[in-house]
Amino acid sequence: MKLAIYPGTFDPITNGHLYIIERSLAIFDNVTVAVAKSPKKQPLFSVERRVEFIRQAFADDPRVQVESFDSLLVEYARARGASVVLRGLRAVSDFEYELQMALMNKKLENSIETVFMMPSLRYIFLSSTIVKEAATFGGDVSGLVPDHVRVALAEIFGPPHGTNSDSARGE
Ligand code: ADP
Repeated sequence: MKLAIYPGTFDPITNGHLYIIERSLAIFDNVTVAVAKSPKKQPLFSVERRVEFIRQAFADDPRVQVESFDSLLVEYARARGASVVLRGLRAVSDFEYELQMALMNKKLENSIETVFMMPSLRYIFLSSTIVKEAATFGGDVSGLVPDHVRVALAEIFGPPHGTNSDSARGE
């Protein structure tokens, strides 16, 4: 049984994250999505809600577990019996930070491997931050996040201010 841990803040989960999880299931038997509490990032959603959003997205798939964690990632992975940490690498801008993290994790626990997966071209620009930014100003985020997340954002920021022609065409 090959288990991977996919750690992140997921504030909130986007379709870019979902794509990585779905693709990783072709390589790993099980994926545990580990939602970091990340208080320093002052998340918009509580860790419980962030976990719930992901659980809802994978409700029918027993290969995906979702948990929160608040400890050293390598210790958490070891306790879960996972030897792989999964990360998505969107652009050059992600690279330096991701390399630094992967090398630090390797130093802390040599037996853990970080595996980077390519994003979908469709979601390469997508981040939780940009989704929140758009929703704050009434932008339509449908097609970028699961529908229940879109609804949760609209409850906080109000409904989007109209639909542009690209999103209406599903682009
Ligand atoms: P963190 O706070 O740890 O960066 P995030 O929730 O922002 O957590 O991201 C978790 C992981 O998902 C990171 O490896 C990030 O690069 C990756 N990721 C984020 N958005 C996308 C996307 N649109 N496509 C692919 N991977 C992504």
